[in-house]
Amino acid sequence: MGKRKLKELQINREWCKGCGICAAFCAKKVLEMDELDKAVPVRTEDCVVCRLCEMRCPDLAIEIVAEEQIEEEDIG
Ligand code: SF4
Ligand code: SF4
Repeated sequence: MGKRKLKELQINREWCKGCGICAAFCAKKVLEMDELDKAVPVRTEDCVVCRLCEMRCPDLAIEIVAEEQIEEEDIG
């Protein structure tokens, strides 16, 4: 626990060109390519919010939104 949690994984389907990089880099296999060659999140519950997909997407089509967490160290 105490880990970041995914709130939303947004994929801009207009920007996605179907290169498959995000699916290839995701160690958790959260992303897959659909029949139109667009990335889709299929196992968001497994996402560890590493943001690799977001960073690797050449077309900036992925946005990872993390749950805002109350971090004990940051309070006070
Ligand atoms: S890396 Fe970006 S452009 Fe490539 S398949 Fe994934 S979302 Fe689409
Ligand atoms: S943030 Fe990491 S675990 Fe989550 S979908 Fe992207 S690459 Fe996979």
